[in-house]
Amino acid sequence: MPAITVQNPLELPKVAAVAVANRPRRVSSVTTAPRGLEGEGFPVRRAFAGISQADLDPFVHLDQMGEVDYGPGEPKGTPWHPHRGFETVTYMIEGTFLHQDSIGGGGVIENGATQWMTAGAGILHIERPPDALIDTGGLFHGIQLWVNLPARLKMTTPRYQDIGADAVTLMTNENGDAIIRVIAGTLGDAGGPGVTHTPITVLHVSLLPGGQLALPWEPRYNALTYVLAGQGTVGLERTPLSEGQMAVQVDGDYLVLSASESPDSRTEALELLILGGEPIREPVATYGPFVMNTRAELQQAFEDYEAGRLGQIPADHI
Ligand code: MN
Repeated sequence: MPAITVQNPLELPKVAAVAVANRPRRVSSVTTAPRGLEGEGFPVRRAFAGISQADLDPFVHLDQMGEVDYGPGEPKGTPWHPHRGFETVTYMIEGTFLHQDSIGGGGVIENGATQWMTAGAGILHIERPPDALIDTGGLFHGIQLWVNLPARLKMTTPRYQDIGADAVTLMTNENGDAIIRVIAGTLGDAGGPGVTHTPITVLHVSLLPGGQLALPWEPRYNALTYVLAGQGTVGLERTPLSEGQMAVQVDGDYLVLSASESPDSRTEALELLILGGEPIREPVATYGPFVMNTRAELQQAFEDYEAGRLGQIPADHI
C-alpha cells in the first residue's frame, strides 16, 4: 500500500509549522468500526458506527472496502442503484472498480484514483470489478465516503469528477516522515484537485514508523481520523489508535498524530484517512441510498425513483 508515493519525501512542499500560539485538538472519542457486507457481498468496515451525526457533519457515511485478498471468482461489486441529496466519493488504494452512471460518467478507478460523484437531484450508478479481476482475484482496498449537501444544493445537477492519482497534491512534514495526499479541499495554502460543494478537506496520510505529525487544521472544520492500516497515537495525550479505529478531535487548530515505532507485518507506515469539513447543521433524514432533510423528501425520492425520474440505465451499460 499505497499506489501513489515518492522516493524522497523531503523534496515535497512542507505543511506549515505549528506556532506557539496554536492549540492542539483534543480527542473526544475513539470508536472501532464493525465489519459488514455491502453491494453484492464485498466486505467493509463501517467507520462511522457509534459516532453522533453532529460530530460527523458534513459527512454521513464511510465504508472501508477491504482490505481483502480475493480468490478467483470472488470479487464483487454493486448492482445498479439510485442516489439523491449527497455525494459519493470512492478512493481506490488497491485493486480496480469500474464505474458507470446515468449521466454519462464512468471509467476505471484504481491505483490511488478517486471518483467524486455528486448525486444531487438524482443519479443511477453501478460499481463492479472488471471481468479480468473477477477471474484472477487479488487485492482490493478502498474507501467510499458520503458527503452531505445542504438543502439549497440537494437538487443540484448531478456531476462527475474523475480525479487521477497523479493529480493529487503531495506534501510532507518538517522531518519528511509523512506523505500527505490532498485529494480534495485545502490544507494550509495548498489545495487538492477535488472540487467540493461545501468547504471540506480529504487527506490520505502515510506516516513512517516513529513519525510525528502536527497538521494545521481549519478551526471551524470537524476532524475525523481513521486508521486504514498500522497503529499509532492521536493527540498530545497520545491516545492509542489502530487499524479500523476512528478518532474525533475537537477544539483547536492543529491535529497531532504519531506512528508506532514497530510497524505490523503487513504495512510499513501508519495509513490514515483524515476528513474535515464545515458542518452543514441541518436536519438529516436518511434511508437507503437517499440523504435528505425530511421524511417527506425521502418519500418523494422513492416515488421519483420508481417513476424513473432519477435517471435511466444507459443502453450501453457495463
Ligand atoms: Mn452507490
